Amino acid sequence: MTAAPEAPAAAAIEVLATAAATGATVVLSGHVQPDADALGSVLALAEGLRRRGAQVCATFPGPFRLPASLSWLPGAASLVPSTEVPAAPDVFVSLDASSPGRLGELAGLLDSAGTSVVIDHHASNPGFGSVQLVVPDAPATVVLVAELLDGLEVEWDTQLATCLYAGLAADTGSFRFGNTAPGTHELAARLLRTGIDHAAISQRLFDTAPFGWLRLLSLVTGRAELEPDVGAGLVWTWASTAEARECGLPGDQLEALVDVVRATEEADVACVVKGQDDGSWVVSMRSRGATDVAGVAIALGGGGHRAAAGYSSFADLQTTVARLRSELAAGVEH
Ligand code: 5GP
Ligand code: MN
Repeated sequence: MTAAPEAPAAAAIEVLATAAATGATVVLSGHVQPDADALGSVLALAEGLRRRGAQVCATFPGPFRLPASLSWLPGAASLVPSTEVPAAPDVFVSLDASSPGRLGELAGLLDSAGTSVVIDHHASNPGFGSVQLVVPDAPATVVLVAELLDGLEVEWDTQLATCLYAGLAADTGSFRFGNTAPGTHELAARLLRTGIDHAAISQRLFDTAPFGWLRLLSLVTGRAELEPDVGAGLVWTWASTAEARECGLPGDQLEALVDVVRATEEADVACVVKGQDDGSWVVSMRSRGATDVAGVAIALGGGGHRAAAGYSSFADLQTTVARLRSELAAGVEH
């Protein structure tokens, strides 16, 4: 991990420090269907700014529902739905959102706020907002938030460190992915020194699911298809929120499926096509290293990182997978 370039971090710190010192209103939001990095970032920065004197409102785009794996994060109870945030705050902070579209109905605050600050680490981020701290080399957005908290001279306690550690562990695959660097472990060490219970955090994030999860897993892995000739090899399967419910699970339980499918050694790209209640499909892709799935996702209307990316499709399942195949094949030809 390289450190964030000094100037962009300094600009963000200055805006936030001034907002805090003057008791300004600050709205913070993560991306739609927030993950541990988005929520950890929002909750840690919101709490830091609150302690420094800002009038803080932490939110995320609808649907306003947190997965059970994240609802225990300290401060989660203080999150408010997007309908309850001031429409024109002094400052709007976007965290872990790779594009304005990922902010859903909150994207308008980028323009209506006095200043909009964009904190992100997605390679596909096109650059938006009036003050930008976008560092693709950062393994997680919480890494940038940690730097901001230092800049704001907020002391890290277990509450803040729990939020930061959750985002760091999630986006590095518990320090297994290629985005993990010596600095990542140094940050983790600093977080552990606050006294957080990292084993409990990881168990809640990654190793806790109702029994129905096993049933769902068997269905979804049982129908996985291996297509070794597509690109550098593709393994894909599908699932739906309706099916999750039949197994007694909330729809967000589909998110963890791709982490199982990605172990397939014959395929560089793993994909789970997730059917939503409205009939659309949300596609999650992971690469074992040879394929830039962010490029594939961008071509199909989404975004993400080189090794983890996604997009939405409004076509049927067959057409959705056919388009994915041809995009992966085109990637190999280029
Ligand atoms: P996941 O598969 O875990 O939902 O997402 C993997 C990565 O791709 C995440 O970093 C996420 O932010 C990004 N991503 C997923 N879906 C979309 C999308 O529809 N648009 C954009 N821009 N990024 C996405
Ligand atoms: Mn992230």
